[in-house]
Formats: sequence, C-alpha cells, structure tokens
Amino acid sequence: MNGNWTQFGGNLSFVCLAISLWALFSIQFQRGAFGQEKIAFGIIAGGASIGSILLAIEFHPGIYIDLRFSPLALAGMFGGPIAAAFAAALAMAFRFAVGGTAMVDGIITIAVATGIGLAGHAWTRKRSPGLKDVALLSLALGFALVLSMAMLPTLVNADVLAGVGFPLTALNCLATVLGGFVLLKTQQWELERSILVTAFSQSPDYLYVKDRNSRFITVNENMTRLFRFRTTAEMIGLSDFNLMSRPLAEELYHLEQQVIDTGVPLIDSTEYIEGRFLLASKVPLRDKQGRVIGLAGVTRDVTERTALERELRESKNLLSHAMAGMSDGIAMYDSRGFILFCNDQYRNAFPLSGETRVVGAHISDILRRVAETGERPGVPEGDVEDWIKAATASLHSNKDEEVQLHNGDWRSIRTRLAEDGTAMAVVSDITATKQAEIALRLSAEQLKSLAETDGLTGMVNRRAFDEAFARETVGSARKNTPFSLLMVDIDRFKAYNDTYGHPAGDQCLRVVSMCLRQSVSRPADIVARYGGEEFVVFLPDTSAKGAMIVAEQFARRLAQESIVHSGSEFGRVTASIGVSCATGAVLRTNPNRLLTEADAALYEAKTQGRNRIMAHSPSGERHAMKEAG
Ligand code: GH3
Ligand code: MG
Ligand code: MG
Repeated sequence: MNGNWTQFGGNLSFVCLAISLWALFSIQFQRGAFGQEKIAFGIIAGGASIGSILLAIEFHPGIYIDLRFSPLALAGMFGGPIAAAFAAALAMAFRFAVGGTAMVDGIITIAVATGIGLAGHAWTRKRSPGLKDVALLSLALGFALVLSMAMLPTLVNADVLAGVGFPLTALNCLATVLGGFVLLKTQQWELERSILVTAFSQSPDYLYVKDRNSRFITVNENMTRLFRFRTTAEMIGLSDFNLMSRPLAEELYHLEQQVIDTGVPLIDSTEYIEGRFLLASKVPLRDKQGRVIGLAGVTRDVTERTALERELRESKNLLSHAMAGMSDGIAMYDSRGFILFCNDQYRNAFPLSGETRVVGAHISDILRRVAETGERPGVPEGDVEDWIKAATASLHSNKDEEVQLHNGDWRSIRTRLAEDGTAMAVVSDITATKQAEIALRLSAEQLKSLAETDGLTGMVNRRAFDEAFARETVGSARKNTPFSLLMVDIDRFKAYNDTYGHPAGDQCLRVVSMCLRQSVSRPADIVARYGGEEFVVFLPDTSAKGAMIVAEQFARRLAQESIVHSGSEFGRVTASIGVSCATGAVLRTNPNRLLTEADAALYEAKTQGRNRIMAHSPSGERHAMKEAG
C-alpha cells in the first residue's frame, strides 16, 4: 500500500496547488462582472478534478482511485451552484471520456461530492463559512465516499473499500480541509482588501502614494475629481508638474523630496491649490530594508473650515470691539436665565450687584443680591423670594423699564426676546435725562398751578373756575344730583379802599377769602375769585338748602372777623350773597343759567339793602331772602 499512499500524496499536492493558484488569481477575477468569478472558480475546480483523475491509481482495470471529489465539494460550498455546475460538468465529461468499468459509478460519485458541496453552500448561505463548516464538509464527503464504496456495484465487486478505502477517504478529507482553509483565508483577505480599497478610493480626503520621484503610483477618486480626470489610472505616472503651475509644483516637489531624503514625515502643512486651502500630511514609505521608496500622502480640504474660522474670528473681534466701545451695558441671558455674555458697562451700571453679573450667573441669584443690598428701593421686605420669582419670570418678555437705584441714579433696562428664547438686555444710564424730566414736570406743574391760582388770595382764578365749572356741571348732570352756586360780593368795597387804602383792601380780600374757604368742607367744593371783590363758590352734590347753610356759615365767620369799615352802614365789612341751584335737565342744557340766576339773586341782595343772602327760587316766588349778620 505504500505505493498507493505515495501516489495519493502526489495527487493531494496537485489538488492543493490548483486551489492555491485559484486563491492567487481570484482577486483578479473579482473585478470582473458578477458570475465571471464563479465560472472561473468552477473551471479551475473542474480542472483540478480532471488533473486528479489523470494522476489516478488504476486500482482494477477500469476502476480509478483519486482525489477528484475534494475540489468538487469545495467548488460547491465556496462557489455555489454556478461554480459547482461548471466543475461537475467538466469532471463528469472527462470521466466519461476515460471510460472503464466503473465509469457510471465514478460519475455518480462526482455528482454526490458536488451535491455535498452544494448542501454546504446552502448550510452557510446566510453567513460566510468558517473552519468548522469546512471540517463538517470534509466529514460529510468522507462519509459519502465510504457509502459509495460500500454500495456502488462495480466498486463493491472490486472490493475497493477494503483495498484503498482508508487512504482514499482520509486523503480526500485532508485535501478538502487544506483547500478549504486556503479558500477561507483568501476570502478573509479579499474582505480586508475590499474594505481598504473602498476606504482609500471613497475617502473624502485626497489620498495618494508617490514614488521617489514624486510621481503618482496610486490616487483615490477624490484626487481625480480635484484635477478633473475620469479614472485614477489616468493620473498614474504623472507628477505635480503635470497638474499645477511650475513654481507651486517645484515648491511641493522640494518638500516631498525632503521627506524622502530625511525620512521625516511632513504633518499638516498648508497648501493652496486650485483655489482651495489644503492641509497635507506626507509620510515616507519604506521597503523591508528600511529604504525610503516613496511617500503616502493625505490631504484634507479645509477651504470651508478656513473661511468659516476667519469669518468667526472677524465677527467675534467686531462684536467684542463694539461691546467694549459702546456706552450702554449689554447682557444676553439664555432661555433658562443664565448669562451667556455681558460687557463691563453692564456690570458697572449696577454698583451693588455688579460683581454677581458674570457669565454663567443666574438671574435669580443676581436679583437676590439686588434685594440684599437694597440696590433697588421698593423691593417688598417680607416677600423677597416672591419678588425674585416674579422678576425672574418676567425676564423673558419684551419690555422697557426705568428703575431707580439706591443712590438716586436711574437706569433704563430694555429687554428683547430672540426666537431661540434668549433675552438681550440693554442698560443705559438715564439719570441726567430722568432728573431733567422730573424738574420739567415739577415746573410744568408749578406753571399750571400759577396759571390757575389767584396771586392775591391763593384761590382758584377765573380761568380755572370756568374749566372746573364746565367739568363739574357735566358730572352732576350725568349723576342727576343737585348743583349749587354762591356768588359773593363785598359791600361798599370801593369806599373801603378809599378810606383805608389799597393795601388794606388787599388784606381785607385775603381775610374774606379765608372765611369762604373755611365755610366749605367737602373736597369737591371749589372757591374761586371771580373778579375784583367778587367770589364764586360752587358746591357739587349740594341742594339749595345745603348752599344756604354754607352761605350762612360764611356770613357768620365774616361777622366774627369784624373788620372795621367806617364807610359802611354796618360799621364793618359785610358781603351780599346770591344763591342758585339746579339739577338734571337745566345742568345738561344750560349750565350758565346757574350763574345768571346767582348773579340776579346777588343783585337782589344788594338792592334789598346789602349784607344778606338771596336765593333764587325755581318756584313761583322769585326770591327767598335771608338777612345775614
Ligand atoms: P357794592 O356794595 O354795590 O358792591 O359797592 P362796591 O363799592 O363794592 O362796588 P363795586 O362792587 O362796584 O366796587 C368794586 C371795587 O372793588 C372797585 C375796586 O376799588 C375794588 N377792588 C376790586 N379789585 C380789587 C383788588 O384787587 N384790591 C383792592 N384793594 N380793591 C379792589
Ligand atoms: Mg363788585
Ligand atoms: Mg362790592
């Protein structure tokens, strides 16, 4: 049997050689169209099978023993139906041509081995086969071979199983394991290679390998796009001198030659090619002896990034310049109330809480400091936390505020809300304008009161009386309440002036006006100097009876003052008073009737002898009279 083992050994070497050759060339075939590779694999496996038959031992006349089954099983499992069909067809055709007694059994066995391979293919269909699958395939093949030798008639007759059954089975199994191992490794390498090739060719960066003379050995697809070539092959053998202006190419060539000469890599050097900013790294490539044989380069396009960076830098500079130079304080709060940025002016605008106003600070902590230091007067003492809460909540709304600080300074705070929820606060010092505004308001108020006041008596003057009269009569008409009016005239005043002099007359007028003021009690009652030594008192919401009481009170007070007047028949200063009263319709349609009626009543008082109160009566009788004093 030694001879058989030797011959089988040769057979085994041939099968392994064929599989290894396939492994070597399979990568070439992979680039072809789908199926081409399977057909090629099938033909090579079939060829290996035929080679094995050629090297077969003729165990009996017409019975050939060899390792033809192993490549067929491998073609089935690794190549699938197409490879299996080509391999089996070739092997069967050749076996048929060889002929012999076991020709039919031989062909059957070829079919069985191929079938086992295809079963293995189906078994590993959803994943790539592993070493375990190869071992299983080899066992299944061995088992099938033993069965064939035990069952197929010509093989049984020749007693093949007993004769060479063991070496035949064992070596077919071994060939399957060895061949399968080679194919597994090849598959793994192919996968790794295709990953690398894809990564290289599809990389968004520019990748290339150059020889010692800076000529391209390989480039990726991005490189061909940059230099407007159709295929990577068109760029191979070219150098930068073919692609760009001479000075630029020379500069790059010089740098690359430095890398090649010194072996020191060039990292992140900037290049400007075809209007693009590039960041290039070039590392030397060495052979096994360590000699530099070229370089590998990675160049990244940073045009957009550079432009963005420059834009960002410029706008940042501009912004910080603007912020530093402006007179207003400015702060930006994010949507949660934290300061994103603020300038010094913003801090300085608040002398007591300024140091808390920094990037990252929260509005509620700033407001707490404001409350603690009393920087802003008017914070309710008991409910500080409530005030902070309310003020924090109102940060994120558009508003214009004017706040006064502890030292009397004023700040305007304008808050504007952006779409993303950030709030921008602009703070201005408005102390000067605010003080001017307050002074202006005060003087306006003073002016107004001057214009409305009688200088001598401090009473409302005629002008203000007319306004108040129009306003108050409308009010009473609307409410439908009675409205009364007194018209007061000092008796014999001309004579008083003549006797005691004008200054004494003025003093007398002051006393009379004081008496009038003291006679009215309601806030709505108004006493006015109507002209000369005539006064008007109007009493909203007051009946004729009420008005009489006021008039009597005045007469009494004047009597009490007892101002000596030698020119008067009463020996002292007295006054005559006309009273009128109106309601509803009269007030609405003809309020001036009140004045004419009061005037008429006054006239009546004068003619009746002075120092008396006459009321205009709306009823039949013209006047009701009351003698005063
Ligand atoms: P009768 O009892 O009829 O009212 O007599 P009478 O002298 O008061 O007459 P009349 O009302 O016409 O006189 C008004 C006088 O009041 C004229 C003027 O001398 C005096 N008078 C008016 N205004 C002032 C004033 O502001 N100061 C002073 N001292 N006298 C004034
Ligand atoms: Mg008069
Ligand atoms: Mg008078």
